[in-house]
Amino acid sequence: MNPNVFWRVLIAPCLVTMLLAFCIGPAQASIQDQPIDFCANKLTGFIRTSHRLPCSSNENSLGLNALEPGLVRPKKLDRQLVARFNAARARAKANGFELLITSGWRSVRHQQLMYERAVVKYGSDREARRWVLPADESLHTWGLAVDIRFANRSGAALRWFKKYSYRFGLCRVYKNEWWHFEPNVSPGQKCSAPR
Ligand SMILES: [Zn+2]
Repeated sequence: MNPNVFWRVLIAPCLVTMLLAFCIGPAQASIQDQPIDFCANKLTGFIRTSHRLPCSSNENSLGLNALEPGLVRPKKLDRQLVARFNAARARAKANGFELLITSGWRSVRHQQLMYERAVVKYGSDREARRWVLPADESLHTWGLAVDIRFANRSGAALRWFKKYSYRFGLCRVYKNEWWHFEPNVSPGQKCSAPR
């Protein structure tokens, strides 16, 4: 065989294929290693990272990142926030605590009314905002905040929840509201200090 033809027909395509495999292979592998979701077992609340397939029918999707407002204001709590709370509730139960929601989604009208009442009660906008935000600033109106309470052993339950809420992607946001949590981190990502 003519060495030129030998080079063009056999060796060159092989080299190109090897080069492509070398360059694209690791890139593909690292794309496949990227998590696509966090899934919580509906019964136990155990969370796993999903890399390829969506969560199974025995699991709830918790969302990969911080949950953020969409384009349209919803009429109920965000589905993935509910899933995060349910996972936390299942784990709390396994530890002997009962976790409940006192307030979740609120309509714009309801939130605004709460804020206006607080202004009257506390005497100023500044003081009222320490307890209730106006409707356009509150994540309750986006279904992205929950106020919680414990049905029993509140002290121990709160210590437990403060320590582990981040595992469910739930963070306490305000220093003066121990009960208010928002899904503002990825499940398992540490929360920033309450402000
Ligand atoms: Zn709240």
